[in-house]
Amino acid sequence: MASNSIYFIGNWKMFGIANSYKILDKINHFFQKDKKNNKKYKIIIAPPFTLLQKFKERYKDKKILISAQNCHNQDYYGAYTSSISPFMIKKIGVSHVILGHSEVRQSGENSSIIREKTLLAIKNNLKIILCIGENKKDRSRNITLRVLKKQILNVIKKRSSLKKILIAYEPIWSIGTGKVPTNNELKRNIIYLKKYLKKKFNTKYNTKFLYGGSVDKNTINDLKKIKELDGFLVGGASRSSKNFIDIIKNFYK
Ligand code: PEP
Repeated sequence: MASNSIYFIGNWKMFGIANSYKILDKINHFFQKDKKNNKKYKIIIAPPFTLLQKFKERYKDKKILISAQNCHNQDYYGAYTSSISPFMIKKIGVSHVILGHSEVRQSGENSSIIREKTLLAIKNNLKIILCIGENKKDRSRNITLRVLKKQILNVIKKRSSLKKILIAYEPIWSIGTGKVPTNNELKRNIIYLKKYLKKKFNTKYNTKFLYGGSVDKNTINDLKKIKELDGFLVGGASRSSKNFIDIIKNFYK
């Protein structure tokens, strides 16, 4: 079963400038009201690198968490033009980092790089949002579960890592397309993977799984019926406060 605290995570991708904090202010206003009404959920927003520090400073005590969208697989400082290390992210006070997003994998990132990033993120006390997902061809060849297991096991080798990772199941064919898996398909995959990880790592810990891919105020109405899900990773619909808030409202309706 899912945890009693649901995650709503917004991945802004390449979006946002200085005054985009206004979007977050509106989300935060809604969140504070809901917290008073004892609704138990967590909000994490992943802006681009240019806004990380500004957002972290603004939401220091507000309980909205801030995530980076990626990090480098070498730590501390180095001759890696355009890169940001896990150490640099942690130093801003950011709590999470998204790793293995399919849009990053598409630009050549392989599993061993994702594993190196994961280990360094853990070393720096960052929590990881690890994205996994099959493509259209995998799905039509009926090898989805095999692909997902491989993506997870290539990165997670130790039981102790499980608690530091939120696995975001994002079918590639679903990202930004308006298409979502059927509830049966999604439920089957999540239940299978949760059970599989318990057995594989000989643990009772229920690894947290999020769903991502075309989550919006409409698709959430069906998705929320899957009790095994621990939350949602939202791309496009997280860039408008209204759309993001509507997802949360509809989830609790
Ligand atoms: C994503 O890219 O992580 C994502 C879930 O995108 P979208 O919600 O736009 O499909």
